[in-house]
Amino acid sequence: PPTDFDMAYFHSYAHVGIHEEMIKDRVRTETYRAAIMQHQSSIAGKVVVDVGCGTGILSIFCAQAGAKRVYAVDASDIAVQANEVVKANNLSDIVIVLHGRVEDVEIDEEVDVIISEWMGYMLLYESMLGSVITARDRWLKQGGLILPSNATLYMAPITHSDRYSESIDFWRNVYGIDMSAMLPLAKQCAFEEPCVETITGENVLTWPHVVKHVDCYTITINELESVTTRYKFKSMMRAPLHGFAFWFDVEFSGPCVSPTINHTPSPLVENNSIDGSQRKKRANPNEALVLSTAPEDPPTHWQQTLIYFYDPIEVEQDQLIEGSVTLSQSKENARFMNIHLEYASGGRSFIKESVMR
Ligand code: SAH
Repeated sequence: PPTDFDMAYFHSYAHVGIHEEMIKDRVRTETYRAAIMQHQSSIAGKVVVDVGCGTGILSIFCAQAGAKRVYAVDASDIAVQANEVVKANNLSDIVIVLHGRVEDVEIDEEVDVIISEWMGYMLLYESMLGSVITARDRWLKQGGLILPSNATLYMAPITHSDRYSESIDFWRNVYGIDMSAMLPLAKQCAFEEPCVETITGENVLTWPHVVKHVDCYTITINELESVTTRYKFKSMMRAPLHGFAFWFDVEFSGPCVSPTINHTPSPLVENNSIDGSQRKKRANPNEALVLSTAPEDPPTHWQQTLIYFYDPIEVEQDQLIEGSVTLSQSKENARFMNIHLEYASGGRSFIKESVMR
């Protein structure tokens, strides 16, 4: 049964602002539309379920791609508007809006396609992926299509002196007054919790590490309760290390692609290219579309998620930075995420715990 936290979560999606922000994110919305059109042959004449349809935009893209029927499911009251939008576009024969949780609504047939925009900050925040898994296990036909097909969460050490000066060094001289006494509180308030901010490729000290790869066809809900990874970076330059950045990408490949192929990150991710435009100019037009939230790619509303240290640490070129990260669902509210970070480098080590609320 839905918890009070679920009710608050669905209530937050009843406001127009959150949908406006997502829809105005053209990188997001146009990549979804392009992916739907790229997979048109698997959608035309088929039955689709849109997990968390919001305003109905992805359901309508699927209808435009020729879907026979689209079940547009949302537990938020935004479903009422989705239904009005569908009617106003004369698509009521095709798009069936179901106002309820994917876990609770009834659909009396198997579906050929699942589409969903489920990704949260740091990929797993909000943990809506569990609802996509539920939909898959309840209704997806053998050999059906899931869009997106897989997702990868990355992390990398970063330097960000401007941010540190702005929030911390600022207090050293305020209108000529030494307010350094504010420093401990300023550090705590600025850096205790993860920050959703935009950085660029220039902030990143070396190639990213894969924290988690998710194959949407095979992932289980149990696997998402806690994700642990050990990282080992070699800084490519001498710089003050301010913390770690996290970002993700999702791929829209077809159902027949062997999952093992997907586990190899594409070469453009590996060389951590600073010029994001390269991603758009992939040589092979048959390659899966990628929605990337990497610092070197065009910005999205997800930005990047930063875990800052309370103080910068000077690292030398080629210095090893190692440790582990555990992301786990909070016991108090499954939509919150606990982040346990262990760090060791240059003879120093510490642990930082934070919660994303
Ligand atoms: N597909 C829309 C909205 C994405 S936001 C778009 O791309 O613009 C995610 C939506 O999923 C929210 O509207 C939220 O209410 C809904 N949602 C999340 N978990 C759900 C669940 N378990 N059952 C039904 N809807 C859910």
